[in-house]
Amino acid sequence: MAHPLEALLVLQETDRKIAKLQREIRDIPARKADIEKQLEGAKIKLSQAREALKKNAADLKQLEVEAGTHSEKIIKYKQQQMEAKTNDQYRAFLQEIAAAEKVISSLEDREIVLMEQAEAAKKVIAERETELKEEEGGVSEEKEMLEDRLKEVQEDLNALIADRGRITATVSPSLLAKYDRLFANKGDFAVVQVEKDHCSGCHMKLPPQVTNDALNPAKLVICNFCGRMLIHLR
Ligand SMILES: [Zn+2]
Repeated sequence: MAHPLEALLVLQETDRKIAKLQREIRDIPARKADIEKQLEGAKIKLSQAREALKKNAADLKQLEVEAGTHSEKIIKYKQQQMEAKTNDQYRAFLQEIAAAEKVISSLEDREIVLMEQAEAAKKVIAERETELKEEEGGVSEEKEMLEDRLKEVQEDLNALIADRGRITATVSPSLLAKYDRLFANKGDFAVVQVEKDHCSGCHMKLPPQVTNDALNPAKLVICNFCGRMLIHLR
């Protein structure tokens, strides 16, 4: 007569595989989120570069407005200069015009610097766009691999669940209920073997009577220390 726990050992092997696959399925969304996060860094770097260019354009616009104001002043000074009544007045306008031209010239110098910076910023943006595109390519590839893996795991899981149905059909319902409770409770093993007079679940030394009883198919023996079902196979 086969020991009734032998079928449970097979069932347990199946249940452990099922649990492992279920864990993997559960972890896939988090793995996907991690992959998505990799993209965030590249997106932030690109938007920073775009912001820098925007600020540069605004600064440039501001300088142009300032230069425009001074140009208008020069036009006004030149008109007033022509209407000057005295040499002193004439010279005063001349000085004002020279001062305004000096300001315009320094504004133009700053404009040149900003335009050079804009060119550099555009290059950085192009580089970061390329980087982002590459990252996106890598990420979609990784996500595809995860999708494929998910399908594979789901198929394996379905096959194992079918196996489980076939195995449980050979186990008495009351024993199965005990096993299910214990397996869920322990999270690793519900049925363990006696190995060299020890429980292989908790590794405690078992009394001779227990190791003996665990040989007997007619007896359901429970480890006193960890509560797992014991089977002694020889
Ligand atoms: Zn034990």
